[in-house]
Amino acid sequence: MAKAKTVFFCTSCGNEYSKWLGRCPACGEWNTMQERTVVAAAASSKTVAVPGEGRRPVRLKDVEMGVEDRITLRSAELDRILGGGLVKGSLVLIGGEPGIGKSTLSLQIPLSNPVLKPSM
Ligand SMILES: [Zn+2]
Repeated sequence: MAKAKTVFFCTSCGNEYSKWLGRCPACGEWNTMQERTVVAAAASSKTVAVPGEGRRPVRLKDVEMGVEDRITLRSAELDRILGGGLVKGSLVLIGGEPGIGKSTLSLQIPLSNPVLKPSM
């Protein structure tokens, strides 16, 4: 389980200390310590800064869904399983057991779409 702890960062040089100090031992600046809460990862000693100002939780109902430009594969079934076609710039991984039909399915994707044509 993640454990939150308080650390102090020097705003001048960025060094981290476990307690507040009037003068940063690393850079020698005075009154540059700033308190922050960090969450230590459970399985490692790495620390992750808790999102601060400008990042606030948003309710799911308030999340705005963008509409991606999709490339239709001219196959109703392929378009349906891809959520309406390929999203430009995305990558689709087709996986499965040997012989399940990955190549057969891939060969059904028409290459008449100029976006999907391999360039040689
Ligand atoms: Zn410093």
